[in-house]
Amino acid sequence: MESIFDYKLDDLITYLEKLNAKPFVAKQLYDWIYKKRVFDFDQFTNIKLELREKLKEHFHIDMLVMRRKQESHLTNKYLFELDDGNLIEAVLMRHDYGLSICVSSQVGCNMGCSFCESGRLKKVRDLLPGEIVRQILMIEDDIKERISSVVVMGIGEPFDNYDNIMKFIRIINDPLGIAIGARHITVSTSGLVPMIRRYAKEDLQTNLAISLHAPNDVLRTKIMKVNKAYPIEELMKSIKEYIALTNRRVTIEYVMLKDVNDDLKCAKELGSLLKGLNVYVNLIPYNETSHIEYKKSSNENIMAFYDCLKKNGINVTVRREFGSNIDAACGQLRASEVEK
Ligand code: SAH
Ligand code: SF4
Repeated sequence: MESIFDYKLDDLITYLEKLNAKPFVAKQLYDWIYKKRVFDFDQFTNIKLELREKLKEHFHIDMLVMRRKQESHLTNKYLFELDDGNLIEAVLMRHDYGLSICVSSQVGCNMGCSFCESGRLKKVRDLLPGEIVRQILMIEDDIKERISSVVVMGIGEPFDNYDNIMKFIRIINDPLGIAIGARHITVSTSGLVPMIRRYAKEDLQTNLAISLHAPNDVLRTKIMKVNKAYPIEELMKSIKEYIALTNRRVTIEYVMLKDVNDDLKCAKELGSLLKGLNVYVNLIPYNETSHIEYKKSSNENIMAFYDCLKKNGINVTVRREFGSNIDAACGQLRASEVEK
């Protein structure tokens, strides 16, 4: 059995051809599940009974199971259980401009960044496209509202699960699907250079965010072992190529770790690294976790870092702290559950 949520519309059409069914049936199916949000084949009354029975033999429309939910003023954090019992997280964030969801792309992560809970627990497996799609459906059902943007910044390294992420994007971007505009979809990577190059060539208007977190190789390798495979010079080259090909602005994420990467020397170095590029820097206050020793930079240091980048002509913002009170950073809720 496969999940119907793993299927792009064109894949569904191809599958239906094998059953001698017309392409418009795929559109009817999309309409039932993504527009009407009906998750029961027996209710798809405009599809012939015989065909429905065949579809039921091949597909399931099961949802995820909500294991935990933590609500605070600006965020809801969800712990979902997959069909095989694995746990993942997704976060709903309320912004002035609308609602966004941060989805997970893998169960755990193999990149092993030293400050990150998801990396500490290693990858168990990749998520299927439909398991990422269903994180959105579950949350929209819970809040009875529609969201406007999606960031792939939860547990996992999306570019280590490239094909499934691309399928996921095409499913939610489809006007007959959840219909989230490409410009409202952002993928964040720790810097897998070959995949950045591939992403640049996709015919998509989606956004790219790079977890840089350090302005030089010595420091970056210390906190992100992926830097050994793809050092900064190579990473910057691929980012420049991406910008040249897509003409899109890239987000540079920089997590502020106390006494590690938050002094003015780092700020200046970062400024010269990024000078003249079509990027903006998002400074992320570190979310402390009990298993990892790093501390969060002081607000004064974050503001001084911010001012220094500004003075050097770099576009920069400080990420609003979304939910340190509810384990909102990457992987913390899952870790608290898995390690019980
Ligand atoms: N693997 C991808 C996407 C998921 S991580 C990536 O690394 O880009 C999403 C972002 O959260 C990354 O920038 C990551 O460095 C950051 N992050 C991880 N743990 C964090 C923490 N405890 N506090 C703040 N940001 C964190
Ligand atoms: Fe993986 Fe991203 Fe965490 Fe690094 S920061 S371990 S790449 S999830």
